[in-house]
Amino acid sequence: MPGFEIFGDEERKEVQDVLDTGVLFRYGFDGVRKGHWKAKTFESELAKRIGAGYCHLSSSGTAALCIAFAACGIGAGDEVVVPPFTFIATIEAILDAGAVPVFSEIDETLCLDPKSIESVITSRTKAVLPVHMCGAMAHIEEIRSFCDQKGLVLIEDACQSLGATFNGKSLGTFGQMGCFSFDPVKTITCGEGGAVVTDDKELYTLADAYADHGHDHIGNDRGLEGHPILGTNFRISELNAAVGVAQLKKLDFILEKQRLHKKVIKDALAQFPEISFRDIPDPKGDSATFLSFFLPDESQAREAAASLGNAGVDSCFYWYDNNWHYIRQWDHFKKLKSPARLPITLIKELPEYEKIKFPKSDSIMARTISMLIKLSWTEEELAQRIEKITGVFKKIGNIK
Ligand SMILES: *Cc1c(COP(=O)(O)O)cnc(C)c1O
Repeated sequence: MPGFEIFGDEERKEVQDVLDTGVLFRYGFDGVRKGHWKAKTFESELAKRIGAGYCHLSSSGTAALCIAFAACGIGAGDEVVVPPFTFIATIEAILDAGAVPVFSEIDETLCLDPKSIESVITSRTKAVLPVHMCGAMAHIEEIRSFCDQKGLVLIEDACQSLGATFNGKSLGTFGQMGCFSFDPVKTITCGEGGAVVTDDKELYTLADAYADHGHDHIGNDRGLEGHPILGTNFRISELNAAVGVAQLKKLDFILEKQRLHKKVIKDALAQFPEISFRDIPDPKGDSATFLSFFLPDESQAREAAASLGNAGVDSCFYWYDNNWHYIRQWDHFKKLKSPARLPITLIKELPEYEKIKFPKSDSIMARTISMLIKLSWTEEELAQRIEKITGVFKKIGNIK
């Protein structure tokens, strides 16, 4: 998955360009920057790569989500439908907007189930936020047509799925806005960074201003720019953007390697009848950062996860017990623990977060194991890995 595995001279060169000018800021200083506009370059290259009309970089993926909410008019008291399997950042960004996360079940895509959204819609619902988890897609067409029918804003959290497509169209380009992250463990990284993409010029203009204190970025004197709206500072630095420029050029190589490595492991696992695989609506568009599969029940999944660990197969995740990605362990969220009082505490009609149940999501997550797909495995390492993995499942199969 992570771009950090293939850092090299390309990244160093881009960063050195910035250091040589001393202009670490993405705006202005036209005379001294010697033509280096790393943030602008990364934005136009990323927009082109993804097939989006516009792209604006931010200081993180979390910031990208915050920018998307602001630009799309999601704010105080608005309800946003989200899946319970995501990274907590998705939820934090909603809370930051003063909006209300409303959870809806996932399906075997490990993403938001289009069929379950209807049951959580209220008169306050403003947006739906599917999260394309672990490198692959939700049933995004169904979710989009549901949103169109109901007049809801669709924002995609594609932070984990850069380069993935559905029927040839990039994830992140199906709704009003899409969000990406380039944090240290994402498909490509620039240390810290994120991006929003959109085809809507007006949304882009709002995003561009919101992420920089409302600056309209018109003219070439920053001090004289207009401020049509309030905003905040979610800017990326030129140093980070420079790394991104180099990493983006490696995206196709990364995807190709991941897909190859994933296929070999998946083929080896396919011989075990007790294993079934995550539903991927368009397998060709999978970015292949993870191989996710299901065991028949929770106890077999727990046993398999433990045995894989004991056999030295690293980077296997049993999300059901993992406090980063599944709501079951998010006690801090359920109790809304924060150093300061959250805007959401002013809202009367809140979901009872400590009480909501997710029978369908639980039954899926309790059976799910995900394996991280690395770029840096040699053929030999991959072969050894497969030997260990098949050894584990042969043993489990024999006992049953
Ligand atoms: C990584 C991630 C984010 C946030 O990205 P940061 O750049 O770490 O702020 C948001 N959503 C999901 C699903 C992520 O995996």
